[in-house]
Amino acid sequence: MPVNPFRQAHFLTSANRLDQLPADTGAEVAFAGRSNAGKSSALNAICDQHGLARTSKTPGRTQLLNVFPVGDPSRRLIDLPGYGYAKVPEAMRLHWRGVLDTYLRMRVSLKGLVLVMDSRHPLKDFDCDMLEFGAASGRACHCLLTKSDKLSRSESLRTLAAVRKELAANFPNGTAQLFSSTSKAGLDDARSMLSGWLFGDAARVTTVAAR
Ligand code: GDP
Repeated sequence: MPVNPFRQAHFLTSANRLDQLPADTGAEVAFAGRSNAGKSSALNAICDQHGLARTSKTPGRTQLLNVFPVGDPSRRLIDLPGYGYAKVPEAMRLHWRGVLDTYLRMRVSLKGLVLVMDSRHPLKDFDCDMLEFGAASGRACHCLLTKSDKLSRSESLRTLAAVRKELAANFPNGTAQLFSSTSKAGLDDARSMLSGWLFGDAARVTTVAAR
């Protein structure tokens, strides 16, 4: 058993429609975030692989849902596109919203959503939309407040407290933590959260956290 199970993650396929996804069995976790929030860097850091999530930005793979099995194909990370709302044509945005809405509501194997936000600019419209989707579909949503290395300790703690307060008030399925792909702050906590969702295995969570 590898120490960090996410090291086994690899790109499998890119889906533009839900029927192109792998069978809806096992467990998966989806990553969302505005462009430049730091989602690819977070995925790479969690999986301890430099180029993993770059595949999501490769032309031809910039579709809706990029699928990364974690070893066993029944355990998957799903990378959702980070379109800034203003940057995509209306028709594509509507298609994306429709697919995402259905995905979040219907996907049985989806155990949770990771929302990556730049800790200097949290809870923008896109983020609140994702939290609304999550709340409406009863999905757990874990916010990674990334690039925390760019804030002072006190600034980052203030941001974390403010985001947690907003979640408690409006999105009770939401949790939040500080994270930095650069300094690795929060990496073990993020892996533990994901391990719990994907593997539901306390022993493995402990192993990962102890790494
Ligand atoms: P994505 O568009 O959400 O996938 O964002 P990327 O992961 O490509 O990151 C966008 C930019 O932010 C890049 O220049 C990264 O090097 C930088 N970045 C991402 N995560 C961090 C972090 O934790 N700390 C710092 N300082 N920069 C980061």
